[in-house]
Amino acid sequence: MNAWCSTCGVARPPPPPLAPPERAEVEKLQKGIAELYDESSGVWEEIWGDHMHHGYYDPNYNKNNDNNDALTLLSDHRSAQIRMIEESLRFAGVPEDPMKRPKKVVDVGCGIGGSSRYIARKYEADCQGITLSPIQAQRAQALADAQGLADKVSFQVADALNQPFHDAQFDLVWSMESGEHMPDKAKFVNELARVAAPGATIIIVTWCHRDLSPSEESLRPEEKALLNKICDAYYLPSWCSTADYVKMLESLSVEDIKTADWSKNVAPFWPAVIKSALTWKGFISLLRSGWKTIRAAWVMPLMIRGYKMGLIKFSIITCRKPALVVTTNTS
Ligand code: SAH
Repeated sequence: MNAWCSTCGVARPPPPPLAPPERAEVEKLQKGIAELYDESSGVWEEIWGDHMHHGYYDPNYNKNNDNNDALTLLSDHRSAQIRMIEESLRFAGVPEDPMKRPKKVVDVGCGIGGSSRYIARKYEADCQGITLSPIQAQRAQALADAQGLADKVSFQVADALNQPFHDAQFDLVWSMESGEHMPDKAKFVNELARVAAPGATIIIVTWCHRDLSPSEESLRPEEKALLNKICDAYYLPSWCSTADYVKMLESLSVEDIKTADWSKNVAPFWPAVIKSALTWKGFISLLRSGWKTIRAAWVMPLMIRGYKMGLIKFSIITCRKPALVVTTNTS
């Protein structure tokens, strides 16, 4: 009986569970997203490198490393970001066997292409990335070219909700921390399933709000207020829960839907980003970047608060598109 998306105030039931957003609203949001990443990607890359997502840590990481300074720890955090990719692939059961591993990959919301290049190398796969930010697409391609991956990896500016790909093309569909930006989650999930080939794995790693209890209609007012502040600064539309994603995927008849809450494993990430912003280098880079980036940095403590309250969940959701059933005529 949960609402499809409890922060957006959509009445429940009857269907449709998630009202499609107004076109003008979507355009405004996507313009903001593109500008935010155009403005901030260089600063991020300068300090953190080419992965623009949380790291995955052992649960006692903070206890053991509390006294180390921010810059010494940066290499740990970069390794944790690579570990996030590895843990996600492992959780989804993506095969390592050279005969079965992915050969064609799409990276939906690719940032400056860190995942695309990593996955292309790991599996010797062809990878196509899409982002709303022209600066990110250019930078992603420049890094791929410089790393000798020009024939394996390509990037373009395109909308995840209207992907420029034919149906059933990719055997790995990868979305690392882009789902939270999608104003129409049902359409997003639908597009991921559409471009997935039969037997393909779909991996969504994203920010969710907590699942609602059976007696709840929506989040509490103070929870909504906190999320709204984060939404304004990071150009996010309404959030949904992990359970909402599961329902959407179930309606698409994909198989083997699995989820996990990795909130505890990402806990050291935001404190580390704040620490790095407070170094001289971080501070100067921030000042040089622009207003959208500064505002995004300003709300970082709210992410920590959201995790601590149990309101924000760092979720992985994976599934498989059913393989084609080959029938042989025995008569
Ligand atoms: N996955 C990358 C970047 C995460 S940042 C990484 O892990 O490094 C979020 C990304 O989602 C940005 O590149 C942003 O442009 C992209 N994004 C957000 N909304 C999108 C949309 N509708 N279509 C395509 N990309 C989108």
